[in-house]
Amino acid sequence: MLDTVKMPPERLLQLDDVEVAFKTRDGLVTAVNGVNYHVNRGEVLGIVGESGSGKSVTVRAIMRLLAKNAREGNGTIRFNPDGETEYRLDGVARDSRLMRRLRGGKIGMVFQEPMTALSPVHSIGTQIMRTVMLHRHVGKEEARLRAIDLLKRVQLPQPERLVDSYPHQLSGGMRQRAMIALALACDPALLIADEPTTALDVTTEAQILELLKSLQQELGMAIIFITHNFGVVADIADRVAVMYLGRVVETGLVDDIFYHPQHPYTRALLGSIPRLGQQKQRRLNVIRGSVPDPYNVPSGCVFHTRCDYADPAICGRDAPPNIPFANGQAALCHFAGKLPEAGQ
Ligand code: SF4
Repeated sequence: MLDTVKMPPERLLQLDDVEVAFKTRDGLVTAVNGVNYHVNRGEVLGIVGESGSGKSVTVRAIMRLLAKNAREGNGTIRFNPDGETEYRLDGVARDSRLMRRLRGGKIGMVFQEPMTALSPVHSIGTQIMRTVMLHRHVGKEEARLRAIDLLKRVQLPQPERLVDSYPHQLSGGMRQRAMIALALACDPALLIADEPTTALDVTTEAQILELLKSLQQELGMAIIFITHNFGVVADIADRVAVMYLGRVVETGLVDDIFYHPQHPYTRALLGSIPRLGQQKQRRLNVIRGSVPDPYNVPSGCVFHTRCDYADPAICGRDAPPNIPFANGQAALCHFAGKLPEAGQ
């Protein structure tokens, strides 16, 4: 492994040039292609993109939960949960001692569908207690009290009774709260939330977002919040990384991205959000075309087949540079900073 300069003290997680491909019968298909992003302590990073953008594969690489046919490149994933020890997670085996200690201990995860993550044959309390006993080395009684306290924190009613309930006895929103309680069992430094509200109705989604925001402020953990919905990002994130076809195409503070998006893909995503005051508009803006086949990625800028600003002579031929701005924003586009203001 290459030697790397230590991360700055405020940095919790940093990905540099992460690449993930999958070996299939039809050859190697690249899902993540040179991804760079970081998360500082106590901040919320929103990762936005359509399906197939590589956002979930990237966090699976962080958690070391990639499928067996995954092949990683030479990129680095560094994680420093306590400000003292910097771990290199790239190349670490899924079931290594380190990952068993970090997953559930320092990194919690909330999935879109809690039924696939929670065991159907164990009570909610048993599942939380097991995690607490494994990572905190406490006895059953203390772990049960901790489980009840966590269920209270995620605002589930009657936690003393609910602790003995099974996942199928809860509603979708309650299951998601129980999943959050499980993820928080050991006060993680980082919570990864992968589309945690996508399967919920709008009201329950708003309640879960509110809960995550208040827990984040109360506990001071950092969150990576993955979504395809820019509206949700505005609600919860401090910074945003926009992904397209396995690349981060734009990063920046949430307000900068919303009011001054520099990448045409970010502009197109923002243009496709329904807005108040636009009810009379007959059709929503949609991004033309569809996400290209990952087996047949366009040359040059991978977005050029769908981009309203593309110059075929340049964009179809040359891969764009990542252009940084003084406010910390950066966009992977030949014309970033030169496009007319988007007026979002
Ligand atoms: Fe569009 Fe060209 Fe920029 Fe790519 S490099 S986003 S095709 S303008």
